[in-house]
Amino acid sequence: MEQPIAVTRQSFDDWMVPVYAPADFILVRGEGSQVWDQQGKSYIDFAGGIAVNALGHAHPVVTAALVEQAGKLWHLGNGYTNEPVLRLAKLLIDATFAEKVFFCNSGAEANEAALKLARKRALDNGNHSKNQIVAFNNAFHGRTLFTVSAGGQPKYSKDFAPLPGGITHTPFNDLAAAAEVINDNTCAVIVEPIQGEGGVLPADAAFLQGLRELCDRHDALLIFDEVQTGMGRTGDLYAYMQYGVVPDVLTTAKALGCGFPIGAMLTTDELAKTLSVGTHGTTYGGNPLATAVAGAVFSVINTPEVLEGVKQRHQLFLDGLNKINQQYPIFSEIRGGGLLIGCQLTKDYAGKAKQITQLANEEGVIALIAGPDVVRFTPSLVIPEQDVKEGLARFARAVARICS
Ligand SMILES: *Cc1c(COP(=O)(O)O)cnc(C)c1O
Repeated sequence: MEQPIAVTRQSFDDWMVPVYAPADFILVRGEGSQVWDQQGKSYIDFAGGIAVNALGHAHPVVTAALVEQAGKLWHLGNGYTNEPVLRLAKLLIDATFAEKVFFCNSGAEANEAALKLARKRALDNGNHSKNQIVAFNNAFHGRTLFTVSAGGQPKYSKDFAPLPGGITHTPFNDLAAAAEVINDNTCAVIVEPIQGEGGVLPADAAFLQGLRELCDRHDALLIFDEVQTGMGRTGDLYAYMQYGVVPDVLTTAKALGCGFPIGAMLTTDELAKTLSVGTHGTTYGGNPLATAVAGAVFSVINTPEVLEGVKQRHQLFLDGLNKINQQYPIFSEIRGGGLLIGCQLTKDYAGKAKQITQLANEEGVIALIAGPDVVRFTPSLVIPEQDVKEGLARFARAVARICS
């Protein structure tokens, strides 16, 4: 047999379009919440592939579903439906407000579908000026041109002008400001129940409730981007369930496939009619391989044991992080929900989140940032207690180093 091509971290710089700056080691294997690099060094994974690997690595149920479907049928194209996609749709519908589902391959695509639906619905109703979208500062909705424009971080969109128009940004958690820009020309309001990339900032319940009322008053669609908060991440299947505010459209991706690319847009019967035959689509969306995996993921996550376990692990993390912070006070706030946790650095450590995660890597734990001033944790929802403790002990050593 031919030898595989030898690859090192340098190969990335040599061969890859440089949109990422990955860590200086290459991971080759994972099991549960542990991963190993080319040199055999072990890491506790507190990042879970950025809130994606909600059941850790190589989960036996998910792997079995993948292997079984791989031997049967991978892809057909949308001229033919398939069993796994229909079963997954039914699972999502039975567990949420939704009555209809559209499948795609990523979070950005799910949001793209939601925003297109909102624009088309207003036009279908004959309202040609109802095309305005209200979004929030610091929001993140993906990297397509439309979703990067809806996002509230100009650093991600400004280089790609001219951008799609008709999008207004207003401060997150400021209902009065939102009320000033939401009017009868608004076709949709898009919001993350917890801003993930923007710094792990939870929405106030009154804010989401107020947006719901404004959308009702002005016949605008309320879109919840639950790409990061969804699939059990906050301890409920979707975060809207905790808030008691029901959106018109919900987008989900990341943990839905636990690492197999898939996204979905959930909505009502009535709104689904907007996207009639031929008006939207994607080649791979809802293919049997992706949906068989997601169906297995869903069946494991949407159980009282797993969802209750998220709340217990949330407390374990909080206790551990507070203890670290007592010894080395570097966090001004520890916030978030379930296993989406953000640690805001104090002024003295502002801008050092990346450096802290690099030291964490050296100590054998994988963590994330959410902007330059927030260290973020999005581990597996089923991470063993022993791994939480060991990972926090390693993280504490990284914190001790930044403080010395
Ligand atoms: C990650 C993320 C997206 C984009 O998802 P992709 O799969 O990268 O396209 C959109 N919205 C939120 C809230 C996210 O966290």
